[in-house]
Amino acid sequence: MILLTRKAEFSASHYYWVEAWSPEENARAFGKCANRNGHGHNYTLEVTVAGEVDPVTGFVVDLKELKDVMEREVVSVYDHRHLNLEVPEFKTALPTTENIAAAVWRRLEGKVPGAKLYRVRVYEMPDLFADYLGER
Ligand SMILES: [Zn+2]
Repeated sequence: MILLTRKAEFSASHYYWVEAWSPEENARAFGKCANRNGHGHNYTLEVTVAGEVDPVTGFVVDLKELKDVMEREVVSVYDHRHLNLEVPEFKTALPTTENIAAAVWRRLEGKVPGAKLYRVRVYEMPDLFADYLGER
């Protein structure tokens, strides 16, 4: 088995806020991230697929196809958007790095022909990332 990773980037804004909590509780839990005007990040997305190398092409997966799927299913939906307000999955779940990684997985699962989704890694900042490996 070979692992192959493709990167993509998107810029988006978000904030953290739990409606059931008071403003004080939100401020205590989320600090500056509780500002409901939002703030932005330049996210880096790494999608890793697993498979066998095709003996003829030498590829695990069609890289153009993988790039197109990531663009269509994730980047075009998230890029330059306010995640809380404009992306359906974050109407009910906070757009934390962890939740974004899981949401990207759900958007891509079953859509990469010829390979198995192995890991979704989302960097919110160079020193902060979350990995989602599906339900194992
Ligand atoms: Zn943030």
